[in-house]
Amino acid sequence: MLNAGPISLHYGKHLALDGVSITVADGETVVVLGANGAGKSSMLKAIAGLVRPAPGALVTLGDVELLGRPTHKFLEAGIALVPEGRGIFGELTVAENLELGAYTRHARPHESRQRALVLDLFPRLGERQKQIARTMSGGEQQMLAIGRALMSCPRLLMLDEPSLGLAPIITTELFAALARIRETGIALLVVEQNVKASLRIAHRGYLMEAGRITGTGTADELRDDPAVQQAFLGAA
Ligand code: ATP
Repeated sequence: MLNAGPISLHYGKHLALDGVSITVADGETVVVLGANGAGKSSMLKAIAGLVRPAPGALVTLGDVELLGRPTHKFLEAGIALVPEGRGIFGELTVAENLELGAYTRHARPHESRQRALVLDLFPRLGERQKQIARTMSGGEQQMLAIGRALMSCPRLLMLDEPSLGLAPIITTELFAALARIRETGIALLVVEQNVKASLRIAHRGYLMEAGRITGTGTADELRDDPAVQQAFLGAA
């Protein structure tokens, strides 16, 4: 469904992405593992149409080629990004944030159905409809950010470090919600530092190092890979 690559991206003279290619099939959950600065966020931003890669790349969803088109076309095609730091509107209420998530032409007709899905996944958002978003806890804000992205009816939901800064019990809740989103058939592309938890919900994954893909495999293959164990799973 998603075919992206080969993506190269420069920030001035710095080459942040060096020919990265990634695919995600319909309904698949894919995790991207890599150290700080490997280029994971830049890759998600390129796939979401927020930064423009060097010529020669493609970002195709289904049979729609998106590169070169305005950012809102990526969202309308079904690609939603929950950025690191969440990107919700802090001064607006929970209900207003969700409503804004459904502003695209293809999402608006499905607004009430999507809201029901979001409130079923995150009942706390239902109880807090009138609360100003910035006054919520970090975990609640992350759930709101995911809820807002779901309001856009994505075919592919991308999450950048969703568990960053969350308490362990909230992280467990978050991954349970991601597993339920996966069961609805929405494809997920997740960048995570919580490697154990993300491999548990993923079908497949990629390893990224210094702007390149350096490995790929099923979740089981990655979990058993000595390099992954050493770098990310705390093995001696
Ligand atoms: P992290 O987990 O720390 O966010 P990452 O794997 O997501 O890391 P990126 O944020 O994509 O990595 O950054 C890749 C490289 O590009 C890094 O060296 C970073 O310093 C650099 N970089 C990212 N954004 C910019 C920017 N706007 N201007 C200049 N350099 C940038």
